[in-house]
Amino acid sequence: MDISLQQVGYLYGKDTPFEKRALQGVDATIRSGSYAAIIGHTGSGKSTLLMHLNGLLKPSEGKIRIGDTVISADTKAKGLKDVRRHVGIVFQFPEHQLFEETVEKDIMFGPMNFGVPEEEARRRAHELIELLGLPPEVAQKSPFDLSGGQMRRVAIAGVLAFKPSVLVLDEPTAGLDPRGRQEIMELFHRLHVEEGLTTILVTHSMEDAARYAEHIIVMHGGRSVMSGTPQDVFGDEDKLSTYRLGLPRSVKFQRDIEKLIGRPLPGLALTEEQ
Ligand code: ADP
Repeated sequence: MDISLQQVGYLYGKDTPFEKRALQGVDATIRSGSYAAIIGHTGSGKSTLLMHLNGLLKPSEGKIRIGDTVISADTKAKGLKDVRRHVGIVFQFPEHQLFEETVEKDIMFGPMNFGVPEEEARRRAHELIELLGLPPEVAQKSPFDLSGGQMRRVAIAGVLAFKPSVLVLDEPTAGLDPRGRQEIMELFHRLHVEEGLTTILVTHSMEDAARYAEHIIVMHGGRSVMSGTPQDVFGDEDKLSTYRLGLPRSVKFQRDIEKLIGRPLPGLALTEEQ
């Protein structure tokens, strides 16, 4: 399902002395089946924006269309139930939300709450354990006896158990070592390609954004200030630098981008020997 934002604004503590504007006039479209990345500095509005993508927050101004559902300031909670099922959010450190006695029960919890029969929920949990590359015996273990990387996979399985068509990822590799980071990013890439999941990645890593996303949205001061293909966004180094987003000076990154835009990047003097 396509997601589009029209002139979305959001104020925390609206009409209170603590009112704080977090989003202003955000226009964006994320096409069904695409892989988009939202990048920007801390405080630029990324987390606030992502909480709008499944109705956790409603816009103070403007509207959001998610498939056939339109969400605006006066949308009632019951109009959002479907959206919550179709758009799964993997929050930062999702393993902090694990709580059941066993991995199997943890993954089954969400679907059973939505009325999925127990046997169907159990079957789904076992399929997901396999899909996420976890050994089958973890099903009966306590999630708290697993390694950090395994716990994160279980938490991701808990989101996938709703069979979302859109997956929103908030810094999904935070706190993992480089190998764990790459494994998780490859997993999401595989889900995007093989299961056709629309994927929206909120990240600080411009390398991940360049490597995996087809569409980049740059947030700055609560506004969406750049939007386009990685070629468009990373090709405009001058504009990026006005949002304090310098390109990382890594040779690998330089090569990826040069391949994308088909010409050498100005101002990047690194070579493989250096
Ligand atoms: P990012 O995810 O890019 O770091 P956020 O969406 O968290 O940005 O924050 C956007 C702005 O909203 C920031 O100025 C931040 O201080 C403010 N903000 C975030 N959460 C709250 C909150 N719960 N109450 C008040 N202001 C908030």
